[in-house]
Amino acid sequence: MFSNTLPEDVLYILNTLTQGGHEAYIVGGCVRDTILHTNPKDWDITTSAEPEETKKLFLHTFDTGIQHGTITVVLNHTNYEITTYRVEGEYEDCRRPSSVAFTKNLKDDLLRRDFTMNAIAYHPSEGYQDPFYGREDIKGKTIRGVGEPALRFQEDALRMLRCVRFAAQLGFSVETETYKALCENTKLIQKISVERIHDEMNKLWLCEHYDKMSLLWQSGLLTQIDPLLATRLMERESTFVSHLQQAPKDSILRWTIVLQDYTSQEAKTFLKKLKFDNDSLKQICILVENIKNDLPSEGYALRALAGKLGTHSIWQLTTLQSILRPDSPHQQSSQCLEKILADGDCLTLKQLAVNGQMLMELGAPKGKELGNLLVTLLDMVHQNPEMNQKQLLLEKAKTLL
Ligand code: ATP
Ligand code: MG
Repeated sequence: MFSNTLPEDVLYILNTLTQGGHEAYIVGGCVRDTILHTNPKDWDITTSAEPEETKKLFLHTFDTGIQHGTITVVLNHTNYEITTYRVEGEYEDCRRPSSVAFTKNLKDDLLRRDFTMNAIAYHPSEGYQDPFYGREDIKGKTIRGVGEPALRFQEDALRMLRCVRFAAQLGFSVETETYKALCENTKLIQKISVERIHDEMNKLWLCEHYDKMSLLWQSGLLTQIDPLLATRLMERESTFVSHLQQAPKDSILRWTIVLQDYTSQEAKTFLKKLKFDNDSLKQICILVENIKNDLPSEGYALRALAGKLGTHSIWQLTTLQSILRPDSPHQQSSQCLEKILADGDCLTLKQLAVNGQMLMELGAPKGKELGNLLVTLLDMVHQNPEMNQKQLLLEKAKTLL
């Protein structure tokens, strides 16, 4: 049954490796997701062949993480990661192995993986290789660490965050011993780079099993990542979950819901700490700052605000208001913005019918004064969009000068 669902390319890769005298299996998330009847994001292959041997068997390959035994095979414009069976040496600093070594034994490779559901390998003619009974855990909707969970979290502390994220992604429960180990090792998350934490939290807020998200703070993990956020989310746990549930699957909107009761300075500090890119940081801060107030639903004020924040932010704010402050006049604001856009009203200096050059030709001095003049004209146009005509504005400018 499973082999019917394997894509042609995957079968081709498995067959090519097998015919080349090597073992090969699909492994990890793709096996788990196929058992769960969901579409895998990608297909990972694990093989006894060493990278150089694998490369000889395929036409288009490139090195991805050759020091970890991973190469990428390109077939029909799709990338497939093929990793040599490997074992990991001692872990350093709770985040990375000091060394990796290749092995010819699949079970050793499965042993290094995080959870039993992620440690299943499959080959159409060999069937499943499932030494840790991952399929039973999948059936029981359980996340269980491979081997001794505490040790596994101590090796790589990111696994704790992955555990919470998988619970919220799949709607699974965390097995008792695994959860206990997680709660006892939360402090180690501080060894993990903020980029990796950011990445996992991004994924978490987009998950669909909202009831599981609270594991993040109930376990104590969030307190170790950011104590202020942990306190704030615990204070408004029930509304938070329902807010998130109503929000579109968009990272910016969801992070704004997470940080909704932050001041924009608190949000900025947090987002900087988590190394958000400048653009996202700016967008989220704008939303956090403006979410607490009603949006204008009258033309002049809304044109002015849209000119300042950008129309995209206004749309996002109307969406957020409908969730966070359903009694606010968000619907009127949406309708008003629709009309503004349909009428093609001028919102920004770029859309103004005159520019700095034209005003200088009239005799306006360069610099701050010129800037002020443009802003005054824009404000007049916000008040009265019909004023956005070159001649009219030049005459106005003359009188102002
Ligand atoms: P996703 O749906 O998020 O892609 P996934 O299970 O495919 O889930 P990946 O991060 O793509 O997760 O990793 C692929 C596989 O590599 C996992 O299924 C797991 O077997 C192994 N793995 C990934 N990260 C770790 C880790 N930190 N510790 C141990 N094993 C890991
Ligand atoms: Mg994956």
